Amino acid sequence: NWALYQDTLIPRQDAKIDIEDRGYQFGDGVYEVIRVYNGKLFLAEAHAKRMERSLKELRIPFPDCTKRVLKGAQMLVEAEGIVDGIVYLQISRGIAPRVHQFPSSATIPIFTGSASSLPRPFSYMDQGIEVLLLPDIRWLRNDIKSLNLLGAVLSKQQAKERGCYEAILERAGILTEGSSSNLFIVSRGELLTHPANNLILNGITRLEIFRLAAEAKLACKEVTYTVDELFAADEAFICGTTTEIMPIRTVTTIDAENRAYHYTIGTGAPGPLTKTLQKAFDRLVKDVTAD
Ligand code: PMP
Repeated sequence: NWALYQDTLIPRQDAKIDIEDRGYQFGDGVYEVIRVYNGKLFLAEAHAKRMERSLKELRIPFPDCTKRVLKGAQMLVEAEGIVDGIVYLQISRGIAPRVHQFPSSATIPIFTGSASSLPRPFSYMDQGIEVLLLPDIRWLRNDIKSLNLLGAVLSKQQAKERGCYEAILERAGILTEGSSSNLFIVSRGELLTHPANNLILNGITRLEIFRLAAEAKLACKEVTYTVDELFAADEAFICGTTTEIMPIRTVTTIDAENRAYHYTIGTGAPGPLTKTLQKAFDRLVKDVTAD
């Protein structure tokens, strides 16, 4: 059991975070989760590049980000002997006396990580999931993969308490994304997903789906769509690094009196476009991570 600490592997039990780490006190930092299939990192360069972007947006200096992220992730996969799993990496602004404004420029960011086994979620991908529709209570910079996840934590917990796999979020009647996934619907034969702006995380899986859709000659648009359009959609799915592509069977909503309403998406079974994309994604996984 190993941890990455400042580019070095150390025994997991020796990895300790200072009480004045700004990641711990303010959520002042960024993270990435990279998938591992067949012992190989999947789309790791894209994750490393996104981490670099998140750092830049938060003005955290971290030289050679892409190189260090890829190296650290690879070291963890090998040390833990991961076959199918994930690597978690985070960078906080560093350790400094607790004031909100940035600390002295001499402060060194703290780069940590770990890897764990995680099987592919085949049964959810095949059978589909139930989701809970909630107001999007998160901040206005969801394009940054920051450590501040309370909005996501509270939303996901509510979903779990209602027996749902994921919370999907709505801002002023417009669907944004899931608490830890992106959201697509199929309407009139076209794939629709929220534009990549400050309101969503521009998912690596989402971008891969754009590519796979184009290859399969499926129309795919970045446009906003409403809650009513979701309910009327022929198909809907969530996607993400650990989620892959999961069809949505039903959407639950809660009214002011805490009563639940259930809306079936399409026939309630995974739809044809969703299945086409799942097959293409599976093919990609196998091609990219073959021996
Ligand atoms: N949106 C949010 C809020 C997320 O947390 C995630 C998972 N990291 C995603 C979308 C999906 O992104 P990716 O495909 O890069 O995992």
